[in-house]
Amino acid sequence: MRKDIQEVLLDEETLAKRIKEMGEQISKDYEGKEVIVIGILKGSVIFVADLVREVTVPVSFDFMAVSSYGNRTTTTGTVRILKDLDYDIEGKHVLIVEDIIDSGVTLSYLIEHLAGRKPASLKLCTLLNKPERRKVEVKVDYIGFTVPDAFLVGFGLDYAEKYRNLPFIGILKEEIYA
Ligand code: 5GP
Ligand code: MG
Ligand code: MG
Repeated sequence: MRKDIQEVLLDEETLAKRIKEMGEQISKDYEGKEVIVIGILKGSVIFVADLVREVTVPVSFDFMAVSSYGNRTTTTGTVRILKDLDYDIEGKHVLIVEDIIDSGVTLSYLIEHLAGRKPASLKLCTLLNKPERRKVEVKVDYIGFTVPDAFLVGFGLDYAEKYRNLPFIGILKEEIYA
């Protein structure tokens, strides 16, 4: 797997340090409150697991799955809910956690959709942000790292369901998906 990586962009230590900072910030901002963390499957799973362990306010979590890229590396622009939340979020403080925001299509759809369920508050947290590729504007409350326009894998991010278990974030060699 490592041989398919052109370059390591964010190593384990860099990720851990930043996720700790994000957890501290979230703990401060939600002081005295409880938060429902909604992880967007499957890419955010590793990030969610690390992030919630750095948060000191009471946390519960739930997951949603939405259709996105399949085996390809570009977005279709359509979003479908494949797995909805298990619990009602009305009156709750909700934090959506994503792996990466690219075009913004997925998140802008989700925000609008979840806002309709009347949470007490709704914020967004993403490990990675790829602003160059934005098609729809989204307001993001917590951003781990801003990354260049390259196809990234590892730390939850896949290509054709592979590479999610790499402990770092790397740029996939073009020959793998070309
Ligand atoms: P968006 O709707 O913002 O274009 O894309 C959202 C989803 O596309 C992300 O949550 C992620 O699953 C996928 N995605 C976007 N960029 C990348 C990338 O560089 N690598 C991988 N593996 N997935 C990506
Ligand atoms: Mg995602
Ligand atoms: Mg994917």
